[in-house]
Amino acid sequence: EGTVRFEDVRFSYVPEREILKGISFEVPAGRTVAIVGPSGAGKSTISRLLFRFYEPSGGRILIDGQDIAAVQQASLREKIGMVPQDTVLFNDTIGYNIRYGRWEAAEEDVAEAARLAQIDTFIRSLPEGYDTPVGERGLKLSGGEKQRVAIARTILKGPPILVLDEATSALDSFTEKEIQDALDRVSRGRTTLVIAHRLSTVVGADEIIVLDKGVIAERGTHDALLAAG
Ligand code: ADP
Ligand code: ADP
Repeated sequence: EGTVRFEDVRFSYVPEREILKGISFEVPAGRTVAIVGPSGAGKSTISRLLFRFYEPSGGRILIDGQDIAAVQQASLREKIGMVPQDTVLFNDTIGYNIRYGRWEAAEEDVAEAARLAQIDTFIRSLPEGYDTPVGERGLKLSGGEKQRVAIARTILKGPPILVLDEATSALDSFTEKEIQDALDRVSRGRTTLVIAHRLSTVVGADEIIVLDKGVIAERGTHDALLAAG
């Protein structure tokens, strides 16, 4: 469950400037496909179309064989998890923040999500600025740590499909190694579409698609692409 398929997808934000010029690819269930390419190539547009923020002007997008044009946005949100750009932390423990919106989740599932995102050591801490009346100080989290809270929250929701957009999710605040490690763990067993800037962070993806000016310029594994220069 969770196969994503783009079939000859075309898209323009404004007339006479086509951003995607007939894009076809598949992310088989449980696999990881990365989209790389220069800024402005149309990478983020692909994730916006997948969420139905916009509709394609040609072609179609299928999830498990069903055209998403016929799927409600609310039900798409249950299928597709996206790590948001900015993470707002609420006045409670990091554990509560991970659980936010999934109140029925078992304690061990929250702990497991925290472990996968590597924030389990401060699951009981409060965020900075929220000191307790008895003088306990909130913990200052780095941008990357806050991002991991968002990753843990997304894992806990357990969507079969994960979309990670480095551009919008501020994964830039991670080191390359941290991105690889965190995403390696969260993508395991999930259909994962990664929008990346750097080939070096998606070395293990099952397929890498190089997008340039709205067309697929190259595709293959990391090693094959390097060998091709
Ligand atoms: P990438 O993610 O590869 O950097 P995007 O998908 O964000 O590229 O954008 C592709 C092109 O579409 C860019 O030229 C960008 O300026 C243009 N674009 C993005 N969003 C809009 C919009 N809302 N209206 C008009 N043009 C847009
Ligand atoms: P497989 O399903 O073939 O085991 P994975 O889903 O485990 O593949 O991911 C393979 C590799 O892709 C990982 O080793 C990781 O380096 C890379 N990867 C996966 N997701 C991301 C991501 N979101 N950002 C960057 N790299 C990623």
